[in-house]
Amino acid sequence: MPELPEVEVLVRHLRPLIRGQTIRGVIVRRAKVLLPTSPQKFRRVLLGAKFAGLSRRGKYLLFQLRARGGGKPLSLLGHLGMTGRIFLASKNRLLPKHTAVALDLGASNLVYEDTRYFGRLTLDNSAVDRLGPEPLGDGFSVETFAQLLERSRQAIKIKLLDQGLVAGIGNIYASEALFRARISPKLAANRLTMAQIRRLQLAIRAVLAEAIELGSTVPLNTGGAKSDGFFYFGRAPGAPDFYEERLRVYDCEGQPCPNCGCAIKRFTQAARSTYYCPHCQRV
Ligand SMILES: [Zn+2]
Repeated sequence: MPELPEVEVLVRHLRPLIRGQTIRGVIVRRAKVLLPTSPQKFRRVLLGAKFAGLSRRGKYLLFQLRARGGGKPLSLLGHLGMTGRIFLASKNRLLPKHTAVALDLGASNLVYEDTRYFGRLTLDNSAVDRLGPEPLGDGFSVETFAQLLERSRQAIKIKLLDQGLVAGIGNIYASEALFRARISPKLAANRLTMAQIRRLQLAIRAVLAEAIELGSTVPLNTGGAKSDGFFYFGRAPGAPDFYEERLRVYDCEGQPCPNCGCAIKRFTQAARSTYYCPHCQRV
């Protein structure tokens, strides 16, 4: 499942490819992903619009467009959900089976594909207003982080998945950051000491920044009849081994902890798997 680093890598990849391109046709196969925008409005607004930019907020992609004829600025919000992919595909290829939306850009289609349709591609941007600070930005200070954690008795691992606390962290990087900060995933958020909060803030930044750096080396478009190679670190069939190896605890149950050699353990928190070292993350 894509988290902040995967979305950031995708945004950097797509931004120069779509800038200046005009939407010449709109194909909607799964109206659900547009909600609450109707397919009629989606088509009316986007037809003839031109891509002006692309940015990221949390796990969301924000496409900036200009309405047709140099009209007013528009913003299209994308979220990949569990299994979504957004990529450019040659017009010579048939649209993939699970295409939810395709935007005709002339020589290529910008395809949003999702086998489970949990993602979004919508003109409604309100989801962004509920997000906490960007973890790699100046707004994510130790002081604000500490204030928000103080109000919660949830286990810190579960709290880190709250996009209103800090935006963009999912199940993989929550486990990885807690491991680096040597904090038990079970510890209540309001029980963390200032020293732990400081370590966690730095660990979050480090795991995300490293993942972006590594992901930026992935070839995302292989062209031809092959898939676009789109990443999902460690999970994509055929993904190079080193993507998995860079994770120190996630999906490593039973393997030795890189620090102490103890077996990494897995347990379930809020219906999601948590991975940790019982020795390094005792408190
Ligand atoms: Zn350990």
